[in-house]
Amino acid sequence: MINKKLEDLTPYKTETTRCRVRLSSNELPFELPEDIIYEALRQVDETKIRLYPDPEAKRLKEAIAEFIGVPEENILLGNGSDELIYYISLVIGDKGVLIPVPTFPMYLISTKVAGRNPFEVPLDSRFDIDTEKSKDVMGEVDLAFFAYPNNPTGNLFSREKINSLREKGIFIVVDEAYYDYAKDTFINEALRREDTLVLRTLSKIGMAGLRIGVLIGVKEIIREIEKIRLPFNISAISQVVATYILSRAKDYIRYAVDKVIEERERLEREMSCIEGVEVFRSKANFILFRTPFPADVVHKELIKENVLIRDVSYMPLLTRCLRVSVGKPEDNDFFLEKLRVVLKRL
Ligand SMILES: *Cc1c(COP(=O)(O)O)cnc(C)c1O
Repeated sequence: MINKKLEDLTPYKTETTRCRVRLSSNELPFELPEDIIYEALRQVDETKIRLYPDPEAKRLKEAIAEFIGVPEENILLGNGSDELIYYISLVIGDKGVLIPVPTFPMYLISTKVAGRNPFEVPLDSRFDIDTEKSKDVMGEVDLAFFAYPNNPTGNLFSREKINSLREKGIFIVVDEAYYDYAKDTFINEALRREDTLVLRTLSKIGMAGLRIGVLIGVKEIIREIEKIRLPFNISAISQVVATYILSRAKDYIRYAVDKVIEERERLEREMSCIEGVEVFRSKANFILFRTPFPADVVHKELIKENVLIRDVSYMPLLTRCLRVSVGKPEDNDFFLEKLRVVLKRL
């Protein structure tokens, strides 16, 4: 009696191997200040556990609206942006979905769960949108997902190309999970147009454990998606903790993000100097690179050296490619050292 839609789906899996240095999930590598975490957790009292949470997450929504700089009425919160991607697939359009690949796997999964046809169009050789190939599927799709910057390639697609697809009548979702590392946004369009939504998340700026995603769009669209939002999708604990952290740690988060950007640039430079390593420039908090050896072998050898990164070579266009998250300076040094060791040995 299992629904046919699930036939070719497999559970989403992440790296769980234990390693001293873990650079596989694109989290913020710097600890949030201890006193702020202590105070944030002190806000969790008995009622936060026994009673249902505020279904509107009013205070958190205010804090996020201020943090991002958009009106509250243009925001809908999700249990991570993953939940919001599901909602979008269920609410926006009913034809096929354009997914430029390689990209974040949740677009494909939620498209299938919604019973819609995915049209996975390979990116061009510079990992930008291939408008020619996209044209071929124009009649079939009415929704498209763009990770901006893209995961795992790290680049920003050209705005003109995204805009030109929208002009052909496709509703566009711009997933800005890595906005803070790229500082380029479609929010102005999402606040004005009924065919554009922007996704943000707190996951890549220090709060992945709280599961808070943010959808930004015009009131009319937000109201439609509200109809299917699960009533208590943000836990009471996440609501108080995130509200407190956003009110007290804003400056720290900005400082930590700047450090990561600095380290990203250093890693790019140092990795490029390793013989045989091809580095792709990144606007996010991770770096895609290619080596002359099979990626699964490099991945396993690095684990033996106590370094966990992500093998992304199963994705289209990414033969022999791996993705490393930017970590703390000492962890990046450890990774660089071990990468040199492993590549020399192979
Ligand atoms: C990490 C990531 C997300 C974050 O998802 P959450 O559910 O908010 O943790 C969303 N989109 C992309 C492209 C990502 O890489």
